[in-house]
Amino acid sequence: MVCFIGRSNVGKSSLIKALFSLAPEVEVRVSKKPGHTKKMNFFKVGKHFTVVDMPGYGYKAPEDFVDMVETYLKERRNLKRTFLLVDSVVGIQKTDNIAIEMCEEFALPYVIVLTKIDKCSKGHLLKQVLQIQKFVNRKTQGCFPQLFPVSAVTFSGIHLLRCFIASVTGNLD
Ligand code: GDP
Repeated sequence: MVCFIGRSNVGKSSLIKALFSLAPEVEVRVSKKPGHTKKMNFFKVGKHFTVVDMPGYGYKAPEDFVDMVETYLKERRNLKRTFLLVDSVVGIQKTDNIAIEMCEEFALPYVIVLTKIDKCSKGHLLKQVLQIQKFVNRKTQGCFPQLFPVSAVTFSGIHLLRCFIASVTGNLD
């Protein structure tokens, strides 16, 4: 099992769709309004693993987030990785920091994914990557030392992230 968390509008549903739309049994709805994903959605990817789409945090759903997500993340034993999405245009925001602290506190193995990289210039992206990389190296314990920059529009980075997910869920053996 892997789960995806991120601020509302960070591009979570689009990313899940880009990653798993090849699996015909996965149906992913992309929300039109920010904060639309209120409940946890579970998707089975074939018989291989389950993807959990968490409600977006920040914006309108802080309570939902604390109640459902924290309880879920704290207790889940078969959760292989948590993918924490950060918008590459704006970088790590206050609410992202809260989610990072939560992952650290629960000692979850997590990975930072930079979304919407098609929206930034190469220079801006490089600046964000270096800055976040430095933060990850200095301030985190449970975060995977490699960032995954992706775009759900151009599919840049999607293949690598798919391979990584296959690997952490034991589907490359
Ligand atoms: P969620 O609230 O985190 O599930 O975000 P959505 O997947 O619904 O996306 C929020 C908005 O960002 C939508 O208007 C998407 O079309 C847009 N979006 C999502 N991913 C990308 C991306 O990789 N590139 C660009 N340019 N826009 C994106």
